[in-house]
Amino acid sequence: MVNVPELFGSNVFNDDVMKERLPKPVYTALKKTIQDGEAIDLSVANSVAHAMKEWAIEKGCTHYTHWFQPLTGVTAEKHDSFITPQGDGEVIMSFSGKELIKGEPDASSFPSGGIRATFEARGYTAWDPTSYAFAKDGTLYIPTAFCSYTGEVLDKKTPLLRSMERISKEAVRILHLFGKTDVTRIMTTVGPEQEYFLIDKDMYDARPDLIYTGRTLFGAKAPKGQELDDHYFGSIKTRVSQFMAELDKELWSYGIYAKTKHNEVAPSQHEIAPIFTTTNLAVDHNELMMDVMQKVAEKFDLVCLLHEKPFAGVNGSGKHNNWSISTNTGENLLKPGKNPAENTQFLLFLAAIIKAVDEYQDLLRISVASAGNDHRLGANEAPPAIISMFLGDELEAVVKAIEEGTEYEGKGKKQMQMGVDVLPDFKKDTTDRNRTSPFAFTGNRFEFRMLGSSLNIASPNIVLNTAVAEILKQFADELEGSANFDEDVKKLIAKTIKAHDRIIFNGNNYAPEWVDEAEKRGLSNLKSVPQAVAHYMDEKNVKLFTENNVFSEEELHARYEVDLENYAKLINIEALTMLDMAKKDIIPAVTSYVKELTDTALSKKELSAEIPVELETNLITSLSQKLVCFSNKAEELANNLIKAGELENDIQAYADFYCDTIFVNMQELRAIGDDMETDTASDYWPYPSYGEMLFGV
Ligand code: ADP
Ligand code: MG
Repeated sequence: MVNVPELFGSNVFNDDVMKERLPKPVYTALKKTIQDGEAIDLSVANSVAHAMKEWAIEKGCTHYTHWFQPLTGVTAEKHDSFITPQGDGEVIMSFSGKELIKGEPDASSFPSGGIRATFEARGYTAWDPTSYAFAKDGTLYIPTAFCSYTGEVLDKKTPLLRSMERISKEAVRILHLFGKTDVTRIMTTVGPEQEYFLIDKDMYDARPDLIYTGRTLFGAKAPKGQELDDHYFGSIKTRVSQFMAELDKELWSYGIYAKTKHNEVAPSQHEIAPIFTTTNLAVDHNELMMDVMQKVAEKFDLVCLLHEKPFAGVNGSGKHNNWSISTNTGENLLKPGKNPAENTQFLLFLAAIIKAVDEYQDLLRISVASAGNDHRLGANEAPPAIISMFLGDELEAVVKAIEEGTEYEGKGKKQMQMGVDVLPDFKKDTTDRNRTSPFAFTGNRFEFRMLGSSLNIASPNIVLNTAVAEILKQFADELEGSANFDEDVKKLIAKTIKAHDRIIFNGNNYAPEWVDEAEKRGLSNLKSVPQAVAHYMDEKNVKLFTENNVFSEEELHARYEVDLENYAKLINIEALTMLDMAKKDIIPAVTSYVKELTDTALSKKELSAEIPVELETNLITSLSQKLVCFSNKAEELANNLIKAGELENDIQAYADFYCDTIFVNMQELRAIGDDMETDTASDYWPYPSYGEMLFGV
């Protein structure tokens, strides 16, 4: 039996540990830094570092690492041991405040979008005391931010922290207008629901496409897919439930609130969701969780696939970003209120979010753009590439009434004039019906559903926080001077909703008619990474980020370049892997099978001219023709990869070419390959089939 309360956080240098192990003045000083962002002085850092090291050694650690989130999309770590030579051939274990506060990874090969090339060759990592250090696999992990020497941020965490500062400041201004002067800080909270696939390790090892790219680049459909929906919430297989149990234990030991687990729609697909927490912790926890999931899977001879679309023809994996705003006094600002004043406050925040999502729909789309997610957005399994908001029937009716200046009368609910009566208490069942919406209100939070499964959730939260902060700032500017607050706030809510109601859509987002309707409404529909990312540098977006001090123009441009570069690189690796598989495995395999058929036909003929050989000759002819097409297509792809190389100096054209030409060639090549797989004896086919992978655990 596991003692969960005892296990929980046992690998974390958390508040309890600090209280126990740090001298009181040091603990108080550190708390001040954590809570109010005050700078930390070196003597405090030295004392914290010493306590951390002693604790880590007790946990079996010999090394420490500054753990950071560069623009590669995965976390980075470089391990240093605690040893310090003593001159007499002996060593002691030491760790100083300086080493805790600042690290200098030789990080010149992390993507920087040209920032470090033009400024300074190296970057440094800086301790983020708001996220606890933890002990894992013999190393003390210290969450850090990553910057260049001239101060440009090169990671995802720093802008996230900046965006949280911004939204806090502006939300507090608004709350003070409502008389809530005891509120000094707000936090955005996030609970990410994480989808993933589990497949057998031996099968994974037999597929170069999974090894190099995380997804299958070839593979004919299995006779059975997800059409029966018999996997969704179905009973969990033993090996999988053993994996889940072990995963929970590990996650709990790192202080992650792992809570819900179930099977998903596709065969071999599952989901895990932790209980929500402050956004920067939720981000760190989700990054750590993805890492732990992969390691725990190995223990059970499984591989955990976090790619957005490992298998064609069955659902891909996403991640739902449940987002809300809470005050330091414990109030959830997205929970409809219990009295008229709170209703007005709720509606003002709601109006701000509606405006933010409408004005920065392109940035929200960009924030979830990745080569893997391109396979999902717009396919009938994930929200489309068009952003819209779902409010639920009741709230939609409230919003309509406000817009039209009429009274709202809910079903069996009290009549409501805005701010006069009590808003209905939105129950989950009335708000969660529309699973197709990319941005849905679910009773006390919004659920952003466009994220891909492998995404670092910092990106969409940076955009959300910053965009909402900007609108709250505009609202606060307008309302702070108001002589008649009660009247003006209502006018502002009505005006804002009226101006931005095109973003609200309660219908079926998967319906083809929605695409036309959205176009009529002027909503953007950015279908691919290069198309979406091209809008990063639009004037209004640059203005948003620079004025809110979340990104400088250089930092933003760096991100634009890195996104396009990563995209092109990824497709390039996929294309090269396909060519390798085609030439080294698939063509030889089909050729051998054709030879076997030919030998069979010839020996039949030798035996007697009477024995029919139609089956063999038909198959030989058709497979031989397909082999020629396949090899021609591979040739075309190879030639286009050379052409792509010539565009490298124009990053946008380069990425566009990968999207419009290379990717299209790859799909054509795959179609012929999958067709040949269907006609080839399984003994000859070089890879495990879809059926074996999806139903083999
Ligand atoms: P569903 O699948 O119906 O969306 P889940 O229980 O799987 O529901 O996931 C809901 C997620 O939303 C959980 O991670 C939960 O902690 C999170 N959540 C609940 N309240 C909030 C909130 N106020 N802020 C952020 N996330 C929240
Ligand atoms: Mg959900």
